[in-house]
Amino acid sequence: MKRAYNFNAGPSALPLEVLQQAQEELLNYNETGMSVMELSHRSNEFENVHNEAQSLLKQLLNIPDTYEVLFLQGGASLQFSMIPMNFLNDEQIGNYVLTGVWSEKALKEAKILGRSTAIAASSKETNYDRIPDLSELNLTPDDGYLHITSSNTIFGTQWREFPRVKGDLLIADMSSDILSKPLPIENFAMLYAGAQKNLGPSGVTVVIIRKDLLATVPSHQIPTVLRYDTHSKNNSLYNTPPTFSIYMLNKVLQWVKDRGGVAEIAKTNELKAALIYDVIDESNGFYKGHAVKNSRSLMNITFNLQSEDLSKKFLSEAKEAGFVGLNGHRSVGGCRASTYNAVPYEACKALQQFMLNFKQENQ
Ligand SMILES: *Cc1c(COP(=O)(O)O)cnc(C)c1O
Repeated sequence: MKRAYNFNAGPSALPLEVLQQAQEELLNYNETGMSVMELSHRSNEFENVHNEAQSLLKQLLNIPDTYEVLFLQGGASLQFSMIPMNFLNDEQIGNYVLTGVWSEKALKEAKILGRSTAIAASSKETNYDRIPDLSELNLTPDDGYLHITSSNTIFGTQWREFPRVKGDLLIADMSSDILSKPLPIENFAMLYAGAQKNLGPSGVTVVIIRKDLLATVPSHQIPTVLRYDTHSKNNSLYNTPPTFSIYMLNKVLQWVKDRGGVAEIAKTNELKAALIYDVIDESNGFYKGHAVKNSRSLMNITFNLQSEDLSKKFLSEAKEAGFVGLNGHRSVGGCRASTYNAVPYEACKALQQFMLNFKQENQ
């Protein structure tokens, strides 16, 4: 069987070993005589899977006991609404750094809810080709929180260093780079990620939240299922969780652990991204990266060719050669290679070679 060179932005590549294990266990999970999808979410077997996934994530990211790990639904997109609902009262301002489409969407939800908002910094003027300098951030004493998008999946930029804000009320959407490198968890009040990029299949959203924040959620006017404290009090089992997604998440986390943990994965990620950025940088402008160098993402590599026609030719020949998912997002065009944890080094090496050959033949 030949596996595709999968550079999809999300849902994206999963580790082959994880898929194989899931296949082996599909009809009979742990001698239960049923699939993991058929287990009660209140059964011991499922609770073990659920708790193991939480504890593996805590281990892998070095999450202190002052934080909780929640498994929610609704994707990262529902977090855009839950955050202002739960954490902004009438006097507080939700402060946002705009670095792309996802941060714009997060801000939009706070506005729909009628909360006060501010823009701490934005790189919109340069078509989101960079992360603003920490010194450019405009913070005010009324900030309920500062919200950032740690890796901008569509534009291909990534924060290298995180701001410290008052009360450490920093909230980050880490959908496209969680678990790709070690993190200073204590800088954050909360971080969250839809699973379908670096953590597993779609369906589960991981939230890592500082416990003291849970006590600040106002007691009224928030629907039960949209309150963080509801899920915390019930160990994320208030209602039926996405059991199969959590099972797969658990397997992906175990896979990362077996590979030496997040620091080791980070080293491989740097090597993988360098393969492709090097081709861009040494191409004399044949390939043009979208992000400025010190803002480049190691997870989503965005680039253009010299004309739209040439980009089209590149994408169509790449497709024929077995590369999947290299089209840029519909809102920006061009090309994008997402090199998440589960994308093998060999796939990046193959893409590097393809890019070199294409340049040779078309310059
Ligand atoms: C994919 C993505 C989202 C959207 O996630 P959903 O789970 O589809 O809601 C939000 N933010 C970032 C940074 C993403 O990459």
